Amino acid sequence: MGKVLIIGCGGVASVAIHKCCQNSEVFEEMCIASRTKSKCDALKEKLEGTTKTKITTAQVDANNVDELIALINEVKPDVVLNLALPYQDLTIMDACLATKTHYVDTANYEPEDTAKFEYSWQWAYRERFEQAGITALLGSGFDPGVTSVFSAYALKHEFDEINYIDILDCNGGDHGYPFATNFNPEINIREVSAKGSYWEDGHWVETEPMEIKREYNFDGVGQKDMYLLHHEEIESLALNIPGIKRIRFFMTFGQSYLTHLKCLENVGMTSIEPIMYEGKEIIPLQFLKAVLPDPSSLGPRTKGKTNIGCIFRGKKDGKDKTYYLYNICDHEECYKEVGSQAVAYTTGVPAMIGAMMVMTGKWNKPGVHNMEEFDPDPFMDALNKWGLPWKEDRDPVLVD
Ligand code: NDP
Repeated sequence: MGKVLIIGCGGVASVAIHKCCQNSEVFEEMCIASRTKSKCDALKEKLEGTTKTKITTAQVDANNVDELIALINEVKPDVVLNLALPYQDLTIMDACLATKTHYVDTANYEPEDTAKFEYSWQWAYRERFEQAGITALLGSGFDPGVTSVFSAYALKHEFDEINYIDILDCNGGDHGYPFATNFNPEINIREVSAKGSYWEDGHWVETEPMEIKREYNFDGVGQKDMYLLHHEEIESLALNIPGIKRIRFFMTFGQSYLTHLKCLENVGMTSIEPIMYEGKEIIPLQFLKAVLPDPSSLGPRTKGKTNIGCIFRGKKDGKDKTYYLYNICDHEECYKEVGSQAVAYTTGVPAMIGAMMVMTGKWNKPGVHNMEEFDPDPFMDALNKWGLPWKEDRDPVLVD
């Protein structure tokens, strides 16, 4: 069918690359390009001989638009799958525009020097992508990503109107370290130490970090504490789900994680303000990332399951209705299959599916789009086929 250029070769990319290789009818050719080419070469060596996908590798600095344009012109991919960091979203979108190439990512743009993420920067590209006749698919991970597809599916098949969405992200995995993050530590800590917020009656309500706590008994995992966070899909779902009154996002954290995080915050280690250290400017959070376990090393140590999904409340045929759609994923099974833990797996699989939707033309609409703007059915089928089967609960316990 075609060729994908994958930018980044970290934890999430490794899963997406394995999955593209399993799906070689669609991904006949793949170029893996990243800052550290040796990681791309190592993965290519591991996968060659196990797949019909033809793999090449390249070095690229994705902060540099000219380098990206030269690479895209050389590789000539049908779609660019951005699995680097949110800081690179705009440079990669610029290069896709210049070369008229479709674009897919998993996280919205975040400036490196300000801990703030929102869609405005990427939505500002809408007209230019439309005029160029190319598609940008934003946030094709699990959350954001599958959570938006679940919302579109619920609206299409289960409700006349959805009024409340609670997105619940539970990681019941245990890696045995006192403190480690399951994806890029810098991005993860920026996200969880930010103020929380939710959408209600047409506006944002802001909370202090971790101010709102609930408990929930997750299928496959058990009882966990979860905390309200700001999360990017709330912003797009608030626009795209008609009749919505409230959207909240909760993520589970254990007490040990929170105690360590608080201590690191208190001593200034999570700061993104540069400081001088032995005559050199360093960013404390980047230094912290360097001493924490690499998330891609957690795979062999992590046991337990994740459970991520959405509880919907709304109306069907004039009656109140509740409906819960979720996926349970097992860390050890993911590791057996692709050598990564479930947090990378639940992001990398939808990233591959998003690239497939665009490449096969099923989700091809010039412009810049969020996941809930497309027909959810082919994506939902692909989740079942490619390792993230979903479950339904028609009488879920609600979050108060
Ligand atoms: P990693 O840090 O493991 O990987 C990032 C990769 O990007 C590394 O290979 C890194 O290179 C490369 N990279 C960084 N900067 C550049 C650059 N300037 N030029 C070229 N390559 C670069 O991160 P993860 O795999 O954990 O996360 C990847 C993305 O997935 C992030 O954007 C994250 O926010 C997103 N994500 C989305 C989720 C969702 O559900 N939607 C959930 C989890 C993550 P190097 O090897 O040299 O460091």
